[in-house]
Amino acid sequence: MGELRVRKELSAIPDYKAGKTAPSAIGVKDMFKLSSNENPFGPLPSVVDAIAGHLGSINRYPEMAASALTAAVAERYEVDPAAVVFGSGSVEVVSQLIRATAGSGDEVLFAWRSFEAYPLLVLAAGATPVRVPLNDDFGHDLEGFLERITDRTRLILLCNPNNPTGTTLGHEEVERFLDRVPSDIAVVIDEAYVQFNRRPDTADGIRLYRKFPNVAVAHTFSKAYGLAGLRVGYAIAPVGLASALRKVALPFGVTQLAQIAALASLKAESELGERVDWLVGERIAVVDALRRKGWRVPETEGNFLWLPLGAATSEAAQILEEQGILIRPFPGEGLRISIGGPGAAELIVDAVEVLVEKGHTGGAFEHAAKEGLQR
Ligand SMILES: *Cc1c(COP(=O)(O)O)cnc(C)c1O
Repeated sequence: MGELRVRKELSAIPDYKAGKTAPSAIGVKDMFKLSSNENPFGPLPSVVDAIAGHLGSINRYPEMAASALTAAVAERYEVDPAAVVFGSGSVEVVSQLIRATAGSGDEVLFAWRSFEAYPLLVLAAGATPVRVPLNDDFGHDLEGFLERITDRTRLILLCNPNNPTGTTLGHEEVERFLDRVPSDIAVVIDEAYVQFNRRPDTADGIRLYRKFPNVAVAHTFSKAYGLAGLRVGYAIAPVGLASALRKVALPFGVTQLAQIAALASLKAESELGERVDWLVGERIAVVDALRRKGWRVPETEGNFLWLPLGAATSEAAQILEEQGILIRPFPGEGLRISIGGPGAAELIVDAVEVLVEKGHTGGAFEHAAKEGLQR
């Protein structure tokens, strides 16, 4: 008897490794979990009440069309409800976009390093990932994208702000880019962190969607709205593409609890906005403090920052953990630190200082060293 046969493309996908568990689960007190770009604040009471009111009905399937939530999002962005498609987190929405446009032999372009799910989702769809290296400022190299477009290209993913580096795209540069992309190639602007993005001239996905017939936008309720545990995100896509997304969507992938929570969160948007403003203030404070100490911190408009530590990354992650903060290392490249709740900012700055004391600063400190240590 032979081994069970699974699709051979899957061997290119690494086995799933469990991430760091939440502090309570590993018995560490006062540990800040800054590894997943989550919102550190728990749900608003109004959102909890809305969910609680539905708990007695979870014997029923969710409403597949998510009509109330669809109407609310369509109204919020002044788009056709037929353009709005939900998924089990925007990761499923990105998966829908890939599977609706690309299969075996087709190519999907994205920046690298960017969201770690992109290559996995492309490979799982049987398509070919094409990674476009980031530029020297840790941002998208749009010329590099154009150079890699072939007649096999079906989809382009732009991540703005880019996870994990935090860098943004400008509106005009993306317009000029879209002018040069063949109009039968779909371009997705993944705006998972759009609410944290304060760059005035940043690429505005919804405006680009209105102007270009091949542009779609992906949004999530996981980050600014604080619903990562419930799994709900959406695409705003050209209507033809939107109906293709519905065909490949996981049936009943968005639970009724998720729909209700998302709707309640949209209603509480200004209240949530205050939390987002606070987190943005913390981000600015942390980045300023680190730069003043001589660190090279790339521009960031997300709820996280990137330290390009290179070869020092893994040891640095270990040291930060000993200081009580759990971060996301990308060995050999750098580490991503999410902005946390009250007290996290000071802890980040102090913990990163320990890296200097112990000499684990990698490339992230070089430029300061050259200019003479400003400590
Ligand atoms: C977090 C994130 C998402 C989506 O997360 P979901 O929880 O699946 O909605 C999508 N894109 C990027 C770049 C992200 O960082």
